Amino acid sequence: MPGGMDLKNEVFQSSTCALCGACLDWCPYIANMEDHLVMRFDCNVGEGRCYAVCPRTYADWQAIGDRYLPDTPRNIEIGPYFNVFRVKAAAGIKGQQDGGTVSNLVKTIMEDELAQAVLLTGSEDHVTPEPFLAVDIDDIEKAAGSRFLASPGLRKIIEAQANKVQKLAVVGRPCQIQALRKMDFNRRPDKPPLDLITIGLFCMWSLGWDFNEYLQKNFPGEKILSLGIPQHGFVVKTDKGEHILPLDEVKKFNKAGCGYCLDMTSELADISVGAFEAEKGWNTVIVRSAKGQELLDKAVEKDYLICADYPEEELNRLKGASIGKKNRNLNNIQAAFDKGVKPFIDLNSEMYAQVRKLAEGMVK
Ligand SMILES: Cc1cc2nc3c(=O)[nH]c(=O)nc-3n(C[C@H](O)[C@H](O)[C@H](O)COP(=O)(O)OP(=O)(O)OC[C@H]3O[C@@H](n4cnc5c(N)ncnc54)[C@H](O)[C@@H]3O)c2cc1C
Ligand code: SF4
Ligand code: SF4
Repeated sequence: MPGGMDLKNEVFQSSTCALCGACLDWCPYIANMEDHLVMRFDCNVGEGRCYAVCPRTYADWQAIGDRYLPDTPRNIEIGPYFNVFRVKAAAGIKGQQDGGTVSNLVKTIMEDELAQAVLLTGSEDHVTPEPFLAVDIDDIEKAAGSRFLASPGLRKIIEAQANKVQKLAVVGRPCQIQALRKMDFNRRPDKPPLDLITIGLFCMWSLGWDFNEYLQKNFPGEKILSLGIPQHGFVVKTDKGEHILPLDEVKKFNKAGCGYCLDMTSELADISVGAFEAEKGWNTVIVRSAKGQELLDKAVEKDYLICADYPEEELNRLKGASIGKKNRNLNNIQAAFDKGVKPFIDLNSEMYAQVRKLAEGMVK
């Protein structure tokens, strides 16, 4: 397995980095400045942990999926899953993004001591992401709501290990769940397996940190209260009112690394949560493992969550959106490989041929 200089040459310099944070803080050589990474000194380590965990270095995602979700029925559009539900919190939590499902799954984990800490992402200013290890139910509200700026939250894994956390729950974006699985898949044989519960978010793209400057320039003196992406645009709520930005304007700030991302629904998580687009205030929940189903069942039993059937036409829409992202970004990946970026997936594999076929069928 190659090392830090290979990570620098293959990932930092090609702008494919997803800013998951998995390579950060283990090694004094890699640092991040807001949303980009730098190698502070030349690294002579031939085999680097940083390289092994990165979701933008070569991985056989099919094999990784088979390892962590072995019994789950395969689906090429949204990844392996048992069930899809419409879910919302019975009593909402302040600042929740959609249905408050994630916050209530986290509350259930904490109450039932299913993990000793939960990796969450909060924010003082409601924009700049700040990952932290939550151990207390009061911490949940600090992280409610989405921070659309990319955040290197997995840098906190080392802190969890330093704090002797053996069972960890993680709320993360798809690239972060991928990195967690790869971290375990490529762990040294003398290291114990990671004991994780993973709650994956849906994610079409995240934003570079220059978006914060854009907000400050456009809404000077206003205090941002929340950001949201309902279907009609990008909504910025401030202490002075609500502003709606055209999505095309916001997408100019998309993080370059998101253009190489093939996962919209956190396909390797135990349970994945996104917005339910057909009705505000609800979530879409995809159950992918027995652990994920047990967690959802516990939250429903406690009356924290209300769980309903998922409409067939919405499932088709979700699958279409996911295939659309995969197909667009497969094109970007092919173009990057053609320009000399070191291949980080096997574009000739059957899985990607099926994506192409499904996407073609959608266009016809
Ligand atoms: C960058 C980003 C892009 C997204 N894109 C989509 C999309 O295209 N379609 C879609 O349906 N849903 C998307 N989501 C998910 C959506 O915004 C909600 O997080 C999800 O529907 C859960 O809602 P909730 O009410 O249950 O969350 P809440 O109960 O409010 O909990 C939100 C959770 O999100 C975590 N979080 C916040 N910001 C980040 C971050 N930057 N990185 C990692 N974790 C974070 C917090 O730790 C918190 O636990 C995106 C989320 C993010 C962070
Ligand atoms: S994708 Fe993650 S692991 Fe890879 S270089 Fe970026 S932050 Fe590090
Ligand atoms: S689009 Fe992909 S790479 Fe970008 S933040 Fe979302 S999951 Fe990570």
